[in-house]
Amino acid sequence: EGYLAYFEEKCPTSKRMTEDAAKVIPGGVQHNLAFNYPFPLAFTKASGAHLQDVDGNTYIDFLQAGGPTVLGSNPEPVRARVLDLLNTCGPCTGLFHEYEMKLARFICDRFSGVEMFRMLGSGTEACMAAVRVARVATKKKNIIKLGGAYHGWSDQLSYGNRIPGIRFLESHGIPMACFKYTQEVFPNDIEALEKQLKRNRLRGGTAAVFMEPMGPESGTRPLDFDYNGQVRDLCTAYGALLVFDEVVTAFRIGVDGAQGYFGITPDLTIFGKVVAGGYPSAGGIGGKADYMACLAGGLGGKKSKKAHVGGTMAANPLSAAAGYHTVKMIEETNACKTAGKAGDRLTQGLQKLIETYGLPFVAYNQGSICHLETVGTMLFDINLFRPWEIPSRIKEIHARKDVMTHMGAAYMAEGLVTLAGSRLYTSAADTDEIIDDALARFERVFKNIEG
Ligand code: PLP
Repeated sequence: EGYLAYFEEKCPTSKRMTEDAAKVIPGGVQHNLAFNYPFPLAFTKASGAHLQDVDGNTYIDFLQAGGPTVLGSNPEPVRARVLDLLNTCGPCTGLFHEYEMKLARFICDRFSGVEMFRMLGSGTEACMAAVRVARVATKKKNIIKLGGAYHGWSDQLSYGNRIPGIRFLESHGIPMACFKYTQEVFPNDIEALEKQLKRNRLRGGTAAVFMEPMGPESGTRPLDFDYNGQVRDLCTAYGALLVFDEVVTAFRIGVDGAQGYFGITPDLTIFGKVVAGGYPSAGGIGGKADYMACLAGGLGGKKSKKAHVGGTMAANPLSAAAGYHTVKMIEETNACKTAGKAGDRLTQGLQKLIETYGLPFVAYNQGSICHLETVGTMLFDINLFRPWEIPSRIKEIHARKDVMTHMGAAYMAEGLVTLAGSRLYTSAADTDEIIDDALARFERVFKNIEG
């Protein structure tokens, strides 16, 4: 309630807009990541590391649109190229153009697991495409994924999806039959994965193992360093395709992705977010030519069954050009490293504050992907909850949800935009001064925590 009065005074226009929006938009806001407690704020300006709301308040942006803007928001050199293209070609033609070629070439030259690339409309679509390609390429049926991982919101990959750290089902409305060929194993439990692969041999085989190489939910649940390699070996042994979901990590961890970082080559790679440079229609699937061939029904005279994928906006000139100029600029300016350094500075600063104020929180990061867990090590327990444990721990779970929501609002009140109060993306626009300014704001929040 305290926050309500505070934001009502500071953000009156947002409040008014919210009331109107709630009449025509379910939940009053369209984007699933838009922070909406006590009500969503409307933003009018985004540039570099900063945002401005409709009432003129400024914020440091650690949501970074959920991850695509590694260069910071709306970098001028990319914008200039995009505007050139808009002036000549417009945003979409449905026809072949040079930028789809340039982007595909750029990616194939850098990702060890990508010999061919198909651009699609979103990470969700790209994951759906990977399921289909894997099934056609291997003639097997089952898909195994890691518990707690997010691979978009398609039915079959939503199996077990729970709101991160809270364990409430993310979505109802999916018949159990959709999960007939999807299974989950606990991250870091390599024996469990092998058991599932063995079991699947008698029930149609395993077409693919899906994983986020930095760990489920963008590394919220970190993986043991050797785990990726162990999964690689098991996939090879059982003839299943290893699918790295690099929607978050590609061009953020490095221009060769997490596969470059770990030195592990997957069979298929999922792209999203940075692949369109923060512009719309960000998604794609890459992989070995033999597997990717089934998207075209065979290659080089070899016949294959076709895995159909499509999309009216897939690889439109605007998204492909924005993606190409963005990833090129990321490489030329070493932006992943700069963003990663900012992530290190932020996380180390946060951890120091946590210790200074004796808070039961924990901060950790993988480069520019930073986590600020407000219930300390409970995070690690919670990802290991089995569904039947939930009733006996329901109070604890609710408390966690409330804490996250309140912390998110407290950060927002100090001019810090985060992802759900617990994740922060840094970008190459985050200078030392900006990070230090952010830490001073976090300190004001931490100082005032009671009890
Ligand atoms: N895979 C991962 C690892 C993601 O983080 C996301 C989105 O956040 C997706 C897939 C889905 O991508 P999109 O939101 O573009 O559909």
